[in-house]
Amino acid sequence: MRVLGRTLCLSSLVSLLVLATLPHAPAAQAEPRPKPRTTRTPELVVALTFDDGDRSHAMAARLLERHGLRGTFYVNSGDLGKKGKLTRAQLGAIAKAGHEIGGHTVNHERLTDLGPDEQAATICSDRRALLGMGYRVRTFAYPYGAVDASARQAARDCGYNAARTIGGIAMKPCGGCVVAEPARPERVYEIRTPGSVHDDTSLADMKRYVIRAEQNGGGLLPLAFHMVCAKGCGSYSVRTKVLDQFLGWLATRERRGTAVRTIADVTGGKVRPVPAESVTP
Ligand SMILES: [Zn+2]
Repeated sequence: MRVLGRTLCLSSLVSLLVLATLPHAPAAQAEPRPKPRTTRTPELVVALTFDDGDRSHAMAARLLERHGLRGTFYVNSGDLGKKGKLTRAQLGAIAKAGHEIGGHTVNHERLTDLGPDEQAATICSDRRALLGMGYRVRTFAYPYGAVDASARQAARDCGYNAARTIGGIAMKPCGGCVVAEPARPERVYEIRTPGSVHDDTSLADMKRYVIRAEQNGGGLLPLAFHMVCAKGCGSYSVRTKVLDQFLGWLATRERRGTAVRTIADVTGGKVRPVPAESVTP
């Protein structure tokens, strides 16, 4: 070492210079950004979304965190604290850990059964309630994935920057079908998924969705989960162990240029105001 035997002052200066030029010097921002490892591998963003504010999502969020991942939790503000649902405190802990909280109507209304005014009422009231709890509510999910033109318009008018439906991305291999959204979805108020993850969706199925999207130009692959439980809890559930294995595998794809982000991270935009509640005489 050339600095050996020099004065303490000089050696300190050298140490400082070395530290300043180290490629892995600690960054001011902890937020990791995916770096494509080769120009041949297109970048894919996977968005892990969890619908309905199920009580199991408190555990699911911690599972994501253990893998260094963050997800989007679409909750029905009117159902918080009800049996089997997240409490306000649990939702607060999820948000505090860095996950996105999004809207999903007040009480999980099927929007296509409602008229335009009722659609706007439940979408806006829900968003107003979540904003009132202090969340930066920027994206929405249509209950049951049920969407029409007026529901899309209501999501926009209620101040959402993007909205997720269910379906539209192929679940089985097929020629020329959609395997991911573009990196910037064309229909940002109708972001698609490969159906919903069900109890018969295997670990291999979920890996295949990702690999297929990676091999076909990348983009955005949102996955829609509902309940998460150890032994399965109905059709709309994934087993904790399967989710854990998938997340562990997914975290290793970062080196291939595949990253996990929230929907709001992908679609961007500010937290827009929600229209004031209309007063009916
Ligand atoms: Zn739902």
